[in-house]
Amino acid sequence: MKEIDDLRRELREYNHSYYVLNQPQISDKEFDMKMKKLEQLEAEHPECYDADSPTLKVGSDLQKGFVQVEHRYPMLSLGNTYSEGEVRDWYIKTKKLVGKDFDVVCELKFDGTSISVIYENGRLVRGVTRGDGKVGDDVTRNVAYIQNVPKFLTGDYPVKVEFRGEVLMPWSSFDRLNREREEQQEQLFANPRNAASGTLKLLDSKEVWRRGLQTYIYYTLGEELPLKTHYEQLQKTREWGMNVSSDMKLCHSLEEIMEYIKHWDEARKELPVATDGIVLKVNDFTLQEKLGYTAKNPRWAIAYKFQPEQALTRLEAVTYQVGRTGVVTPVANLEAVLLSGTMVRRATLHNEDFVRALDLHESDMVYVEKGGEIIPKITAVDKSQRDKTAKRIEFIDKCPVCNTKLVRNDEESAWYCPNETGCAPQIRGRMEHFVSRKAMNIDGIGSEIITNMYETGIATSIEALYSLTYNDLRMLDGFADKSARNVLAELAKSREVPYERVLFAIGIRNVGEVIAKKLAARFRSIDELRNATVEEMTEVEDIGEKIARNVIAFFAEPKNISMIETLRQYGLKMKSEEEKVVVSDRLSGMTIVVSGKFEMHSREEYKAMIESNGGKNGSSVSAKTTYILAGSDMGPAKREKAEKLGVKIINENEFAQLLKEKED
Ligand SMILES: [Zn+2]
Repeated sequence: MKEIDDLRRELREYNHSYYVLNQPQISDKEFDMKMKKLEQLEAEHPECYDADSPTLKVGSDLQKGFVQVEHRYPMLSLGNTYSEGEVRDWYIKTKKLVGKDFDVVCELKFDGTSISVIYENGRLVRGVTRGDGKVGDDVTRNVAYIQNVPKFLTGDYPVKVEFRGEVLMPWSSFDRLNREREEQQEQLFANPRNAASGTLKLLDSKEVWRRGLQTYIYYTLGEELPLKTHYEQLQKTREWGMNVSSDMKLCHSLEEIMEYIKHWDEARKELPVATDGIVLKVNDFTLQEKLGYTAKNPRWAIAYKFQPEQALTRLEAVTYQVGRTGVVTPVANLEAVLLSGTMVRRATLHNEDFVRALDLHESDMVYVEKGGEIIPKITAVDKSQRDKTAKRIEFIDKCPVCNTKLVRNDEESAWYCPNETGCAPQIRGRMEHFVSRKAMNIDGIGSEIITNMYETGIATSIEALYSLTYNDLRMLDGFADKSARNVLAELAKSREVPYERVLFAIGIRNVGEVIAKKLAARFRSIDELRNATVEEMTEVEDIGEKIARNVIAFFAEPKNISMIETLRQYGLKMKSEEEKVVVSDRLSGMTIVVSGKFEMHSREEYKAMIESNGGKNGSSVSAKTTYILAGSDMGPAKREKAEKLGVKIINENEFAQLLKEKED
């Protein structure tokens, strides 16, 4: 039993360092031997069955979905209050229970999603969401991609320690992400908290890294913690390498607590991350223990929440907008109301699920909030003011513009108008995007002119812009001689726009500016990209499967192909300027997969060598693979697959030999 337990623990750790930390600790062979030994022991002792055993989980399977794990210490929530009076009551009651003066640590309450991060022997071993407080989702892989979560602790940390904290998306990342989503006409995140929790549950860890999450730790748990108070413990936690906010304060009286609350109610607006209140905790651990818990909350802590800025107003109508990518967004049109100094007339309703959750009815009185968020949002309905005959708001099932039946993808909450090539706002939106500054940068054509061109039929597609004549332009409202000539000159000039921006401009769903750049760097021409597989694309940094599938869907549409061909004829750049260096065709017809670490050249250099000698880089081992060029630490899964398929594995020397042989 002990041997089985030890092996399981060891193998889990190796798996973790391999798949999560990308730092393999032992050779594949040693790993395989240990795994075999465990399998054998488990077969001999069926009474030791454990569904969590590494023998039942392949390394790569760990990367699919999320496993639920039990919290070692339950993750409770705090009692909440919005009133200073209740904070006072809590303080007085606590003082009675404690029977003497006591200190309180005041901390900002960060508005994100809770996380528990566990370290063993100073090594990050697990990250778990709150879940239901008893059981949470194992999101270790994504936690490892949060930029300020250390993989290793430093200093005098205990053998086992658990940190509780909040995962946040800073305002800057949140704004950037929403700007990108707006550009892509994707649904915007309502607030940084949703964005953070959504990001933490992504299956694509590269995207987690790119979104720039942060963690703030607010509690440390363990059997052998060295200190006696929460305040000291948090300072220590910071020394160990965890991110702890420095905006906390050790308060010795109720007056100090009230001062802290008052100060931060205003000062928090300047912080780089969202906060929604203050948490007060009794400092002394012995007192915390003495105070204990109610059924739901600890008695030794309370959360004071700031009042959100809110207004009550009447819903006049729900209208629907169709974006460039066909997403249909419901918008609440409101009776004008003053909120945070601005007049609010519209609020986004995000999607059908959001409307349903609100149980929105015609002419409802609704609460509107603008808690530092870009777009005002409806948070609740005052049902007591609802007319009995009022009808429920039902989401439309046909496009409000072209009347096409809307569709919805299973994993997304948005409804789309699928009529990409015939729905006016989608076509106009793509044209606007095409001429925009970051895309083709065609000065002199704005959204009004596009609408005008589209409605008069002068140009009803992206490619039609290039066949515009001087006379066509002069027919448009307000187009004098000079502006017509200017637009023609701008269009001519756009032939010099580099390929990566053309790729961005043609409006492939989810392919924003940055992604277009990355795709263009790897696939040097539009034809190369058109032939790329999902596997090849996802090998590129930041490109997930969703993007790859959208690229493939784009090229599957004949109208898109004909647009590209027309643009090519007009002289737009469809490939990167620098040509690939081809030195020989010695590897032509071969597909080689490069895997592991190498001595003589880097992995990237090998990949370049394969291409410049006419070969193809494979991303995963398949029947089409000619060779696997394997360095040290090649994954056991790849090796197993290679053996099964009979693909030959070669090392660096053999590869060098291969190039030479061919030369001879
Ligand atoms: Zn439509």
